[in-house]
Amino acid sequence: MPVRSRHHRPLAERPPPPSQVLIGRTLQHGKIRAVEVGLGESGEIVAVGRSISGGRRHDLGEAVLLPAAVDLHVHFRSPDARVEGENWSSGTIQAALGGVGTVGEMPNANPAVSTASRLVERAERGRGRLAVDMVLFGALVRARDVAALGRVAGALKLYLAPTTGIDDPVDQDEAGELLRSAASTGLAVTVHAEDPAHFRPLGNATNPVEWDSARPLEAEEAAVERLLRNVPPSLRLHIAHVTSARVSERLRAAGHSFEVSPHHLLLHGRPSDGARFKVNPPLRSETERARLWEELTLGRVPCVASDHAPHDPEEKEGPFSLAPAGVPGVGTLLPLLLARARRGELSLSVLVQAACERPSLWFGVPGGRLLPGHRGGVIAVDFRRIERFHASRFPSSCGWSPFEGSEMIFPVEHWRGGERIVEGGEYTGRPTGSIVRPEYARN
Ligand SMILES: [Zn+2]
Repeated sequence: MPVRSRHHRPLAERPPPPSQVLIGRTLQHGKIRAVEVGLGESGEIVAVGRSISGGRRHDLGEAVLLPAAVDLHVHFRSPDARVEGENWSSGTIQAALGGVGTVGEMPNANPAVSTASRLVERAERGRGRLAVDMVLFGALVRARDVAALGRVAGALKLYLAPTTGIDDPVDQDEAGELLRSAASTGLAVTVHAEDPAHFRPLGNATNPVEWDSARPLEAEEAAVERLLRNVPPSLRLHIAHVTSARVSERLRAAGHSFEVSPHHLLLHGRPSDGARFKVNPPLRSETERARLWEELTLGRVPCVASDHAPHDPEEKEGPFSLAPAGVPGVGTLLPLLLARARRGELSLSVLVQAACERPSLWFGVPGGRLLPGHRGGVIAVDFRRIERFHASRFPSSCGWSPFEGSEMIFPVEHWRGGERIVEGGEYTGRPTGSIVRPEYARN
C-alpha cells in the first residue's frame, strides 16, 4: 500500500505541557487499555500515556479515544448556497457529528472545478463556513490547466465515465495525457474507473439490479486494467469506490491505493428498491457484496470513504433512469462501521487503519493516529451507546439515508484544534475548519 507522506511534526526534545488531558481508553497494540491523551494549545497531541500531569482534565470514563476519521470522497456541492440539499456548512457539521475531521470535496460542481481560478473562487466562498477541515479536489479536464490547478488543489480527480454532474468524461487518449500531467504535480489522483464501452443502454434500467446489468462489474474491471497498463510510474493513483473483491485484489497486487464505500460493503441491489439506491458504480449482487465485506474484515481494503452525495428526496423519487446517482453518507461512515466493530464483525484496529490512518497518509494531512506529534482531531466513542439511526439526526435538508433504521454508534465527543466540537453527541462547534493541502505539497 503506498504510503509516501510523513505527516507528524517532529517534537522538540521536551514536548510542551498539555493544555487539556482527555482521559479514557484506547486501542494500543490491538488491546483496549486505559489512556490519557494530552492536547497542546492548538490541539496537537503532545503526550499519550497512562498518566499525564498538567492541563485541564476531561474524564470520558468508559469511552474509547480514537483519531478522527478522514473521508476521502464527499460531494458537499456548494460552498454557500443550498444546492441539492447541502452546502459546505451542513456537510461539514455532519462530518463532525460522525467523527470525521477532514473531508475531500469532489470537483464535479457546475461548472466542474477544472481550473485554478475556479478552485480558488470556491475556497474563498467557503471561508468561515467549515466545521472540519477540507481538501479540495481539482478536476482533470484539460492538460494545459493541470500544472496551475496542481499548485492550489489538495488532490486531483479523473472521471473515465459519465456520472451525476459529469456528462462528458475524458476518453482514453485524453486520460493518458492528463495522468502524465497530474503525475508531475505530485498530488494524489483519484480515478472514477468505469469503462463506458462496457455499458448497456442506461435508460432502460428501472431498479438497482437492472442498473447493475447496465453498468456491469466488467466495466469497472476493464477501466482498472487499462489504467494499470498506462499509469505513469510516479503517479499517486487511487481508485474511487471499488465494488468487488477481484478489483480489490488486483489493485492491491499492483500496489495502488483505493477506497470502498459503506453502501457497497453493506447493501446489495434489490429489484424492489427504487432510485434512492441508484449509485455509480451500481450496488452489486449479495455475493459480490459479501466478498467485498470480507476483504475489509481481512484488512485488505486500504481506505473506506463515503462518496457522500446528498440528493434531495424529490430528485430521487422520479423515474429511475432520470434520477441522480448517489447516496448521503459522510456522517454515517464511521458510526455504521463502529457498530459492526462492536458486534465483533470487524476489528477496531482494521477500521481505524482504513478510516483514519491510511486516508490521512494518502492525503498527506495531519492526523489519523493517536501519537505525540500528530495534529488531527480526537473522538471519544462509548460502545454502549448504540442507536437506531434516523436521518433527521443531521442538519442537512437532504433528510434521508439508505441506512435509515440501521444500528450506529456516534462519537460522544469530537475534539479538533483544542476545542470540543461535539459534546454529548451534539454539534457544539464553531466554523473554524480550513481548506488544507498535503504537507508534501507545501515545499
Ligand atoms: Zn463521488
